[in-house]
Amino acid sequence: MQKTMKAAVVEKPNVMVMKEVPVPEINDDEVLIKVKFTGICGTDYSIFTGKYSSDKLPLIPGHEFSGTLVKAGKNARNLKEGDKVTADINMSCGHCFYCRRGQKLMCPEFSQLGIHINGTYAEYVKAPWGQVHRLPDSMDFMIGAFIEPTSCIIHSAKAMNLSIGSSVAILGAGLGVLHAAVAKHRGAAPVIVLARNPKKLALAKEFGADYTINVKEVKDPVAEVRKLTEGRGADYVVESVGTIATYEQAFSMVRPGGTLAAFGITAGDDVMRLKPFDVVLGERTIVGSCAGFGTDWNDAIALLQYGRIKPKPLFSLVVPLEELESALKELKTNPNLTKVFVSSEISKREVLS
Ligand SMILES: [Zn+2]
Ligand SMILES: [Zn+2]
Repeated sequence: MQKTMKAAVVEKPNVMVMKEVPVPEINDDEVLIKVKFTGICGTDYSIFTGKYSSDKLPLIPGHEFSGTLVKAGKNARNLKEGDKVTADINMSCGHCFYCRRGQKLMCPEFSQLGIHINGTYAEYVKAPWGQVHRLPDSMDFMIGAFIEPTSCIIHSAKAMNLSIGSSVAILGAGLGVLHAAVAKHRGAAPVIVLARNPKKLALAKEFGADYTINVKEVKDPVAEVRKLTEGRGADYVVESVGTIATYEQAFSMVRPGGTLAAFGITAGDDVMRLKPFDVVLGERTIVGSCAGFGTDWNDAIALLQYGRIKPKPLFSLVVPLEELESALKELKTNPNLTKVFVSSEISKREVLS
């Protein structure tokens, strides 16, 4: 087997270098995976620009992935060479205060593949065997690379306890489109998606939104949501943009007794205005949700395997690993791009939809 591999390394903020690095060595509890596809996530751009994980550089990012198992450590059970796999990227100590309460994301030793430790913008990646999920035979590798973002949406729906017959307003039509799909599967009605890009709003409809609101075309998005919910505001509101303006709008859309799901990631020092009065007298709830882990991954696999979520209309492009940096920038400047995948196994880009 080859000793070195191609990898995209963020060496310091805004400096990404394609280089040959050693293929990761595995211990008895790890497996080595040949990466097939990695989906580009907003977090990758934040790592590239140094807004996130800058203390972990140099780093190979990439965390939404699928691949083929090429080597299994001695202790790996139920896994063998040639298995089509992905891996839950969320790792923790397993025995601290938080881990024992099923809150591993808060573990002091928490780390994520491709965010805190080397990830999948490379030919190979290693992962602890217990994190690995085998893909169903019928699932293609590209869908396999979409399990991670799907698991995050499922985690958020569970965190806010989205219930049957409830109204949901979703701000943002990037991952917001997936929030709409999952809300519909949990029996929400109506599902309302607010965003500014007509193409993405059309996708939101396709994925289960009953109403879409183009925020560029209306004077007051909050008033529009109230109109669709008998004047009350929505039972649940999901913020999936990550700006202070949209967080403040989102909170204003929550009906008394309702819930805001905080999903969009803002800068670490961003501060929103919030009237405690509306929380106390209105008994409004705010729930945070950061990542899908554990059974969220099994749930994501089931929904994708059985076509409850059919994500292919969201897939825009697949580009060679060498084009990662330009693709990260294109995603920032071309609002019509949705999911872009990266592969070290192709030499020129392919348009998917
Ligand atoms: Zn991600
Ligand atoms: Zn822990």
